[in-house]
Amino acid sequence: MKTKLIEIAENYTAELLMDAVLEQNPGRACITCSFQAEDMVLLDFVRRRVADIPVLFLDTGYHFSETYAYRDRMAAAWNLNLINLLPAISVTEQERSFGRLFTLDSTRCCQIRKVEPLMSTLENFDVWFTGLRREQSSTRAHLKKIEQHQLPSGKQILKVSPLADWKWSNVLHYTEEQRIERIPLYEQGYLSIGCEPCTSLPATGGDARSGRWAGKKLECGIHTFTGRNG
Ligand code: SF4
Repeated sequence: MKTKLIEIAENYTAELLMDAVLEQNPGRACITCSFQAEDMVLLDFVRRRVADIPVLFLDTGYHFSETYAYRDRMAAAWNLNLINLLPAISVTEQERSFGRLFTLDSTRCCQIRKVEPLMSTLENFDVWFTGLRREQSSTRAHLKKIEQHQLPSGKQILKVSPLADWKWSNVLHYTEEQRIERIPLYEQGYLSIGCEPCTSLPATGGDARSGRWAGKKLECGIHTFTGRNG
């Protein structure tokens, strides 16, 4: 049944796809949410179907103060089942032991503060909703709406990205139509907002993620640590 859904998913709208996935996989679904605009669109769709779905936020300790304030406002306004995923060590402990890893070794920093907390938490779920869009960067251009992934433990998980074919204009239109507030940083020109030390304005003519990690990399690792099986 899952194979059939994977095959036909590309023809489904975001909401139809979500309904089909949830019908075939009741319970054990989660959504990762960075509180960026596309994630808020997806979260709005999901929360109308599963009000208490676990909303996983990678709390690296390095987010903009605007992001933390927005997260807290929206979690209260939408009564979210917010789960802040914390790394094994605090920012203070990490900087005392290893220095400023975000400049010295961003792969290791992302591994400690993002990948490891998410990797262990996903063990508890069968379906993982993401707000990824193909338009965001070259690394996402071939994203499928439904992919079967394998966690490092061997556990299988269905990774579902209902907004894969959405454009930024669709995201803006939906948030405006539904009067969903956005992180104020968008008004300063940011198009992709992650940890403060690794986020800058996008390059002129570059894609949305060109301002991340000063253009040295495009992904933190949370969308590459799993192996895709289908
Ligand atoms: S995005 Fe930057 S600060 Fe955040 S975890 Fe990765 S390297 Fe560290």
